[in-house]
Amino acid sequence: MDVFWVVYMAAIGAVLGSFYNVVGMRTPISEPFTTGRSHCPHCQRRLSGLDLIPVVSWLLLRGKCRTCGRAISPVYPLTEAVTAFLFAYSYYVFGFSAELAAALIFVSLLVIITVSDLYYYVIPDRVLIFFAVPVAAVRLVIAPLDPWWLAIAGAVIGFSLLYILAVISNGGMGGGDIKLYAVIGPVLGVTGTLLSLFFAALIGLTVSLVFLGRKMTRKTAVPFGPFIACGALIAYFWGEQFLVFYLETFLYSRL
Ligand SMILES: [Zn+2]
Repeated sequence: MDVFWVVYMAAIGAVLGSFYNVVGMRTPISEPFTTGRSHCPHCQRRLSGLDLIPVVSWLLLRGKCRTCGRAISPVYPLTEAVTAFLFAYSYYVFGFSAELAAALIFVSLLVIITVSDLYYYVIPDRVLIFFAVPVAAVRLVIAPLDPWWLAIAGAVIGFSLLYILAVISNGGMGGGDIKLYAVIGPVLGVTGTLLSLFFAALIGLTVSLVFLGRKMTRKTAVPFGPFIACGALIAYFWGEQFLVFYLETFLYSRL
């Protein structure tokens, strides 16, 4: 592990995180993200280079627009910081290996759909289709699971379980969540897919109870994508350790 490369990956992650924010916010409303400079959503002032340094600009401006003084959503610096951390952590865990490619693609997908789901309650099909290609390349050729078909089994099981959940919850779970599993299932494999659902449900329930409890009715729309993203990342990076810890603590100790 080389400190230089950890810092380098964090910097790349911060810059890409800034870009993923734009992709996540513009794709659902079909606004092209390759044209049009970033601007303040309140006063429309175009942002200069100084306003576009990931995380740093937001902190220096104390979360307010330089011109109109209106609040800038903390989702921007959070997305940048989280992507920076996850890129650096991916390198820390996998080094320069084939699995690093899988990790970076996986992180990128999850960051983008989280932004879209938070802002618009939508996981765009176009993002999923775009990522389906590199995910297939990674899991079928570059960094296959052992055995390789666990990738396909993960997609089938994730998709099916979410489909059943959607039918049971009568629309509480969106179509985007179901399709998302067809793309993240191959990265996670079977065990990872099941663990990610477990973590997603746990986090979703906790957050709903703590933050939404008072004002929640049955009709309150809760974007489930961010919970799936958190669950998927925990399962991907720490799922194995969790299983070992769990089995050792609760099963083997009783034997
Ligand atoms: Zn402004």
